[in-house]
Amino acid sequence: MPVDPSDYISLLPTVEAHLRQPPRLYIGGEWIGASESFTTTNPSTGAPLAQIAQATAADVDRAVAAARQAFDSGIWQRRMPPSERARLIWRLADLIEARAEVLAQLDALDNGKPYTTALKSDVPLSAEHFRYYAGWVTKHEGATLPVDETGMLNYTVRSPIGVCGLIVPWNYPLLMAVWKIAPALAAGNCLILKPAEQTSLSALYLAELFEEAGFPPGVFNVVTGVGEITGAALVDHPRVDKIGFTGSTEVARHILRASTGNLKRVSLELGGKSPNIVFADADLAKAIPGAAWAIFGNNGQSCTAGSRLYIQRAVYDEVLEGVADVAAGIRIGHGMWKAQPQLGPVISEEQLTRVLGYVQAGYRDGGQTVLGGQRMGGALAEGYFVEPTIFTRVADDMPIVREEIFGPVVCALPFDDEDEVLARANDTIYGLAAGLWTRDLGKANRFAAGLQAGSVWINNWGTTSAASPFGGFKQSGHGREMGKEAMDLYSEVKSVWVQYE
Ligand code: NAP
Ligand code: MG
Repeated sequence: MPVDPSDYISLLPTVEAHLRQPPRLYIGGEWIGASESFTTTNPSTGAPLAQIAQATAADVDRAVAAARQAFDSGIWQRRMPPSERARLIWRLADLIEARAEVLAQLDALDNGKPYTTALKSDVPLSAEHFRYYAGWVTKHEGATLPVDETGMLNYTVRSPIGVCGLIVPWNYPLLMAVWKIAPALAAGNCLILKPAEQTSLSALYLAELFEEAGFPPGVFNVVTGVGEITGAALVDHPRVDKIGFTGSTEVARHILRASTGNLKRVSLELGGKSPNIVFADADLAKAIPGAAWAIFGNNGQSCTAGSRLYIQRAVYDEVLEGVADVAAGIRIGHGMWKAQPQLGPVISEEQLTRVLGYVQAGYRDGGQTVLGGQRMGGALAEGYFVEPTIFTRVADDMPIVREEIFGPVVCALPFDDEDEVLARANDTIYGLAAGLWTRDLGKANRFAAGLQAGSVWINNWGTTSAASPFGGFKQSGHGREMGKEAMDLYSEVKSVWVQYE
């Protein structure tokens, strides 16, 4: 249901100034103008927000040269004590916390998400992420290895990879960037961030915070622009050593093909069609809201969205009704309304069309909705708002059940027994996340072992922590972000042999 339109949260002067900035790129510690630009819009209204620089291949080349020079000079790694590198990363976390309202307003405007969601979740999680990796800088150890050769010492060290291009999506603009930036910096790399074209504002503000924190020039660079030009130039560049990417499986295929020129390292965090399984023996008072928020959180625009809801037949009607009740009560509205909603719009007109296209395909295939299915009108008619949508009477082979929609659409599917639902849950090209709700510990652990997914949530959904690895099986990606795993993802192992006799 839409919340009442009321007053808007006033823009902070820093935010207003940021929106008025001429199109610019952050390269080599300097702000550089751009000859071409595009407009970023507010998806809550469709209205223009700011002009963003469209970086050309030549701009990307300058950014790579700046990052290369910073890296080769050793200023961020060989010549900087680890404790100093950690201190700078920690300072960045402090600045993120100090400017939390600015960052939250920028993401609320650019992405449409509610300001309080950005303020209470995206921004503090970003600060926490930097702190976690600040801690790793001084603890990323190698080993001394028991080799057979006499008079020989062998040890390993973790070296940074070099220049990393980080290409990120729009669903959590600041946080998705930080998931990559923090470990890549901690491991000693120099970076070029390419934010999503829909959401560049917080990335550019983050560059200001890097400047204020006192990072050496060239360690962090931001090039804005569309994927086909700016992103592609980064991926093609022979002097970029690694691409860290989050986004669609389709673009990931382009990136892998384009990476063959210099065989750059590629890590990929991609989509999903994650199964969420409710057993009849679950605590339904927790499972029902859990299942609703697993899909409708962030409007289904999460790579881990629980978009296939398998419900054991004995409780199918009860759970379906309960999920529909929770969904019908979700307050939806403009990201900057004072009466803060729980959800905003989807990101763009293109995404709105895509989501509604899947809804139509669901109907054509014989599916029925028990809730939603429409664009929202009234005070929300100008923004890209879609009702939370629940499909029933759908079959496992329909596109609406197989393909990632990345919108607030869930398919509810009944099942009878354990073996059946495990096979159906795993019958997907994806493997990012899966979850189940049960009171039976044996069953919970059998499923934790059997589900083919990088994250398995038992009696909860979507929990992540900087300390715990995250990533996909199958076509959901390569590599693991977060935890110690991300330090390894952004470093190379070097084996050193010393003949001392
Ligand atoms: P996308 O195209 O994969 O975008 C992700 C990032 O890649 C953006 O920064 C994008 O730039 C860039 N990019 C696009 N084409 C590129 C290329 N040829 N070379 C290098 N970089 C390139 O995703 P999207 O268009 O935003 O969304 C489409 C679908 O992807 C969604 O509906 C959803 O299914 C999936 N998706 C998944 C995730 C996830 O977290 N796993 C996140 C977002 C989207 P532009 O911003 O200019 O396109
Ligand atoms: Mg925008």
